[in-house]
Amino acid sequence: MENDYDRYKYIDPRLITMCEIVTAISFPHMTPSMSESASCSSNALSMRPYVIVNVAMSADGKLSTRERRQVKISGKDDFSRVDELKAECDGIMVGIGTVLADDPSLTIKSEMRIAMRRKNLRPPHPVRIIVDSMAKTPLDAKILYKGEGKRIIALSRAADPARVDQLRQVAMHRGEHVEIECIFCGETKVDLLELCKELKMRGIHMLMVEGGGTLIMSLFQAGVIDELHTFIGNMIIGGKNAPTLADGDGFVLEHEFSHLRLHALSQMEDGVLVSWHVHTCMPE
Ligand code: NAP
Repeated sequence: MENDYDRYKYIDPRLITMCEIVTAISFPHMTPSMSESASCSSNALSMRPYVIVNVAMSADGKLSTRERRQVKISGKDDFSRVDELKAECDGIMVGIGTVLADDPSLTIKSEMRIAMRRKNLRPPHPVRIIVDSMAKTPLDAKILYKGEGKRIIALSRAADPARVDQLRQVAMHRGEHVEIECIFCGETKVDLLELCKELKMRGIHMLMVEGGGTLIMSLFQAGVIDELHTFIGNMIIGGKNAPTLADGDGFVLEHEFSHLRLHALSQMEDGVLVSWHVHTCMPE
């Protein structure tokens, strides 16, 4: 199989404008299409990572059932595509709602992709990031103990210090291959703009967000999403309380809406894979 990382580590000679060159330097892991997109958006020179949201949803836009139980929406081809995307990223982020509902490890599953990252002097897995204002991450959460590498728990300043200490100590019990850093951003809720800046300062240039819908909506509201990839599965889950791609309170006024530009559309197994670029302002 082709080594994607090798493909991205050179600056594409077609990138000739100053802005594009800066983008290529700032986002060395990007495909030419991602690079082109970043150079067009205001984030090319900004202090935040390039952010890709990836989810699997049902044909009616649900991420899981009304019981918030994890369900199988996509098949092995999509699973492999997501693993590949993960392997290209420096960080992977979820909200605490997803950690409590699904208990994901967010590790790369393919041994070959892990080996390739090591060969390229990258950590075996992307930095795993939990957005968790009140330090509710369970001490036995898989994300904390499965696989080596760094974890970041993004907390608000209102988080209980004793609980934060307990989370930090998980790393001590796990030994030298596990690092847990707690970052405080925001007073009672994680301030996502501040967090993005902190992540960029820690070398996270490309960030994948796996959900859930509450976190994704807040990221749209903060204007920090560059690409949206959705696998749409061939089922209806239904339920007005089942999580969707973008929950929270949502936008009210039309000028607030996030606008998307269709980038690619293809059939994958019995579903559809759609990827969009996100406009930072309303298209003409
Ligand atoms: P979520 O988006 O994972 O996490 C939301 C939580 O993050 C908030 O309740 C909040 O809790 C915390 N948070 C902290 N700062 C925030 C901020 N600025 N903005 C937004 N959230 C912030 O949870 P969810 O919406 O309940 O989604 C979980 C569901 O999605 C599960 O059912 C899971 O199975 C599903 N899911 C599906 C997929 C898929 O691809 N199909 C992927 C992921 C998840 P605090 O206030 O306590 O910090």
